[in-house]
Amino acid sequence: MRALRLVEEGRLALEALPDPPPPEAGQVRIRMRAVALNHIDLWGMRGMAFAKRRLPITVGVEGAGIVEAVGPGVINPAPGTPVVVYAGLTCQVCRACREGRENLCENIGGIMGFHVDGIAAETVTIPAHLALPIPDGVDWPQAACAPVTFATVQHMLFDNARLESGESILVHAGGSGVGSTAILMAKAIGATVFTTVGSGGKIEKVTALGADHAINYRTDRFEGVIRRLTNKRGVDVVFEHVGPDTWGGSLLSLKKGGRLVTCGSTSGITAPTNLFHLFQQQIRIIASFGANFRNVQEGLAKMASGAVLPVIDSVLPLQDFGAGLERLNNRQVFGKIIVEVP
Ligand SMILES: [Zn+2]
Repeated sequence: MRALRLVEEGRLALEALPDPPPPEAGQVRIRMRAVALNHIDLWGMRGMAFAKRRLPITVGVEGAGIVEAVGPGVINPAPGTPVVVYAGLTCQVCRACREGRENLCENIGGIMGFHVDGIAAETVTIPAHLALPIPDGVDWPQAACAPVTFATVQHMLFDNARLESGESILVHAGGSGVGSTAILMAKAIGATVFTTVGSGGKIEKVTALGADHAINYRTDRFEGVIRRLTNKRGVDVVFEHVGPDTWGGSLLSLKKGGRLVTCGSTSGITAPTNLFHLFQQQIRIIASFGANFRNVQEGLAKMASGAVLPVIDSVLPLQDFGAGLERLNNRQVFGKIIVEVP
């Protein structure tokens, strides 16, 4: 059984591991087919783990495969079922888990591919409740984008920011995996979408996705453009995941009572906040990390119906995982980078 492992900080290697034993009670073994790359993989490569971990560790946080064996007592999913992997080791017994808010689990056992072994391997063995079935009509690269990318955006836009038809939203980094997904999901419900991109070449691409207005934030102050395009009112929602480079402008882009929802900070860790502006404008800041099982299913349903499909930048062989991360790091991507497991 081969797995892609982080053998020391910053260095990956495809290693041969012993074949796994049969799954134990409550477990399933999955033959992995596709893994999607995310910024969390970059943090993991650089050793920015939030908790202690031991190397080597198998990388890969988001992906899909087919159930090939189940342990005693497991009825669902049955062998042969295509599934995505929910990478958070949730407890299933705490109040948050019982109420379907799994990303707030009080006893989370870590994130696969980050704190504990991940899914960039030929096979992985996981608790059965973390294998969520894929509906018909969704291919492997698409399904691989469901448990983190689609679910995160679904949770941010609809559970947290409560975006509604007819509202306006500013989506940062519209060419990124979550950015492109946010554009598509917001347009699918009838929102007006403003988006920022980091290069002129991406303007045409985000417009093709349906964005109503695209702003190159390297050549234009986006908050000024937003104010001009909205008759100085601002937007209802800002979708943040960039951080210091955009944070101040994001707050200035919101209308009175607007909502800022954030799931990441790819340009740094801290950013100054104008507190007078924050309370006078009655802005709500909502922090979001991951998603619950329902969000994963909602994202998959959007793929299956064709309402929203992930934008795939490229599909690479497993051994090019590191090169894919380099592309992600250099912001040369448009959409998701997928690696196929042979
Ligand atoms: Zn829990």
